[in-house]
Amino acid sequence: MERVHNFNPGPAALPLEVLKQAQEEFLDFKGEGMSILESSHRAKSFDALIIDAKKDLKSIMGLSDEYDVLFLGGGASTQFAMIPYNFLKEGTTADYINTGTWATAAIKESKKLGKTNVIASSEDREFRYIPKDFKIDPDACYLHITSNNTIRGTQWQSFPDTGNVPLICDMSSDFLSKKLDFSKFSLIYAGAQKNIGPAGVTVIVIKKSMLEKQRSGDLLTMLNYKTHIEKESLHNTPPVFPIYIVALVLKWVIKQGGLPAIEKLNDKKAGLLYSCLDNSNGFYRPTADKDSRSKMNITFRLPSEELEEKIAGEAKKAKLIGLKGHRSVGGLRASFYNAVSLESAEKLVEFLENFRKANS
Ligand SMILES: *Cc1c(COP(=O)(O)O)cnc(C)c1O
Repeated sequence: MERVHNFNPGPAALPLEVLKQAQEEFLDFKGEGMSILESSHRAKSFDALIIDAKKDLKSIMGLSDEYDVLFLGGGASTQFAMIPYNFLKEGTTADYINTGTWATAAIKESKKLGKTNVIASSEDREFRYIPKDFKIDPDACYLHITSNNTIRGTQWQSFPDTGNVPLICDMSSDFLSKKLDFSKFSLIYAGAQKNIGPAGVTVIVIKKSMLEKQRSGDLLTMLNYKTHIEKESLHNTPPVFPIYIVALVLKWVIKQGGLPAIEKLNDKKAGLLYSCLDNSNGFYRPTADKDSRSKMNITFRLPSEELEEKIAGEAKKAKLIGLKGHRSVGGLRASFYNAVSLESAEKLVEFLENFRKANS
């Protein structure tokens, strides 16, 4: 079997080593004589796995015991609702910054639950940039941002200082892609299927002190962060298999040398592609402003939609997969998540250069 070069935006490429290990252990997990798919989520082996995964994640992120880690179902989209449901108290407001489709979806849910202020937006220019000028309400119960905009190809390059206002971040598409001071954040969430695992589990990193800021009253059990913190993500049956794969990916991240090594490789991959696009005499046009470019999702246009159609078809034949832009924006998008190898990035650049020569 020949594996393709996978630039899918999510679900996306996973490290081959991880897939192989899962395959090896598939029929017999930890000598139990059955697959992890058949084992109880209350089994000692799974308990050990989840504890280990939390420890690995906190060590990768350099976080203290002030933080807890949750592995929940429902996708990142459920967090759009859970965050205001837990923390947007009556008589207070929540601040949001709108940088694209997913941020818009988060804002929509918050508005259903309470007073929501969009303090900055890049919608005026099709979300091509990350806003720099905004004023955070010092009394807001939190500020919500989206660190990487998967569809528009923009990424926050540094994060705002929010003072006493808790900073909440949807990191779905750049979680664990670079070194960061994660202690700036009070809550981080990420659907695993972009950068750290398969679909089916969302990782939530939450400062325990956020529980003191919950709205009062009897919250719905499954939508209450407290339930999942107290029961260590085992209140109900968790997505066992996706958590298992995430646990393997975390070990892989550590083996690569942690976030410094991951970042170095991601910088190199993105640098190669952006310089190919920038040096194409305008044939390829990156859509994001230079100071807001994403290293995870690199979006660009060609001179015509016909050429965009043509290149996507030819790329597929060359085993370069997943390059079509999101259906809402068109164009092309190369997703360079952690598991995408330097070799894949180089292959793509070579292909783009040949295509340009043949078609310009
Ligand atoms: C994909 C994505 C989502 C939606 O994730 P689901 O797990 O499908 O709900 C939310 N935010 C960002 C930034 C994303 O890239």
